[in-house]
Amino acid sequence: SACATGSSYIMALDCGTTSVRASIIDQYGCIVAAASRAVKTSYPHPGWVEQDPTEILASQLAVMIEVQFKSGIHSDGIAAVGISNQRETTVVWERDSAQPICNAIVWQCRRTAPIAEALKEHGMEDMIRKKTGLRPDAYFSATKIAWILENVSGAREAAEAGQLMFGTIDTWLIYNLTGGKVFATEYTNASRTMLFNIHTLDWDDELLRIMDIPRCMLPDVRWSAGEFGRVCSDIMTHTPPIAGVAGDQQASLFGHCCFAPGQTKNTYGTGCFMLMNTGEQVVESNHGLVSTIGIAQGGSVSYALEGSIFHAGSVMQWLRDRLQIISDVADTEMIARSRQSNDGCYLVPAFTGLGAPWWDPDARALIWGLTSASDRACLVRAACESMAYQSYDVLRAMEADADIRLSSLSVDGAASRNGFIMQFQADLLGIPIVRSESIETTSLGAAFLAGLAVGYWEDREELEQSCGASKRFEPKADESRARDLAGWHAAVAKAAGSPDGARE
Ligand code: ADP
Repeated sequence: SACATGSSYIMALDCGTTSVRASIIDQYGCIVAAASRAVKTSYPHPGWVEQDPTEILASQLAVMIEVQFKSGIHSDGIAAVGISNQRETTVVWERDSAQPICNAIVWQCRRTAPIAEALKEHGMEDMIRKKTGLRPDAYFSATKIAWILENVSGAREAAEAGQLMFGTIDTWLIYNLTGGKVFATEYTNASRTMLFNIHTLDWDDELLRIMDIPRCMLPDVRWSAGEFGRVCSDIMTHTPPIAGVAGDQQASLFGHCCFAPGQTKNTYGTGCFMLMNTGEQVVESNHGLVSTIGIAQGGSVSYALEGSIFHAGSVMQWLRDRLQIISDVADTEMIARSRQSNDGCYLVPAFTGLGAPWWDPDARALIWGLTSASDRACLVRAACESMAYQSYDVLRAMEADADIRLSSLSVDGAASRNGFIMQFQADLLGIPIVRSESIETTSLGAAFLAGLAVGYWEDREELEQSCGASKRFEPKADESRARDLAGWHAAVAKAAGSPDGARE
């Protein structure tokens, strides 16, 4: 099946937490051109995290235009558009005006922790886990929607009357890009809402009742690859189809071609997200991971185990913007390398509690082990190391749940540019870290999904050939790594919020 429109590129949109991007990708999986813009985040109260959906949309549209100008490839040269997006982040808007009724509640936001706690107190944890693969937590969309319906004036009545729409960022973009014609999401994003039954592949009425969310607010749920709708002509003259959509972490799994059970990737971005393909089976975690839909393409679903770390690259931004001890996050590599060791200093970035495998919403961030000799380099190194330690804990949990030992780990994300962190990670884990040459694996995954849907690429085998070159970080034996890990785990224990917080 030749490319239906005779066009020759795919446009991939990556609507992330830190930035939004648009890329033009060719048949070989090369990024021909890209444009990006930073996304503003606001923190109106401690633990609250918000973004403006209108601004996200405006930035996304702006980079779509910019990348066409940069490349000279316009909408008549675009065979299809793929979308990947920050997941869980919740937008509620008016059906008639398409105006959001409040800011988007970002995945990192902890304001709904009490709602999640109440679900646990009412003994819902097992049922929620069985149906959704998730654990009751403020991270997922359900409690965020419930909060909006409770706290935005008039929202409950409007929702019951069918006047409000809920969407994760993919749905918000699809709705606006199609000029309000298509109200849809797909399985990977839906699997992060805590309202979606990952076995029956449908919204779950019991969960909707418990969360008091009217079903009419929810989008239609589709496969990740297939035509969602066409970009309307005032945005792109030749109205290419939106043909591939996935949550950013699942897009990255696809972009790494982790098609086989056991294949695992870790993305080092604002947070860290590790996903292991577990095939057609849902693997239930005994180690604080969640089960989720990994791949929803090709007529069957592959499930995944996932461990999410809430603060990773964002710690570098914190060093830059709050402590103001670095001027550029890229400098962290050189500064960390200026030290032979961490000198016993650890940073546990539990700014909004701890995610996998600890799941302690009350944990608080700390810097531990300071001496009068500690300086900026010591803090920067501790921050870099914290990404690798957190990923170590998640990977070991994953290996235990899936009962396999990984032989290598595929990585991507902007913070994977940091060679110090990658080498430290390899040394800690004792396995090679494989970083793809193009670290925009998320965009690549979205493009792959869209391209498969329109016949731009034939099949997964062809995609594997488009997965380009990579750099390997080989593990070096170093006995100080065991001491480092022990120090880290001691620091994590000190960060614990509640004495009964889950600890292994
Ligand atoms: P997202 O998709 O979540 O928006 P990105 O993949 O763009 O995230 O990653 C952005 C994050 O990576 C930021 O938090 C930034 O601080 C961090 N980062 C970028 N470059 C480096 C680097 N060289 N070393 C460490 N962290 C980095």
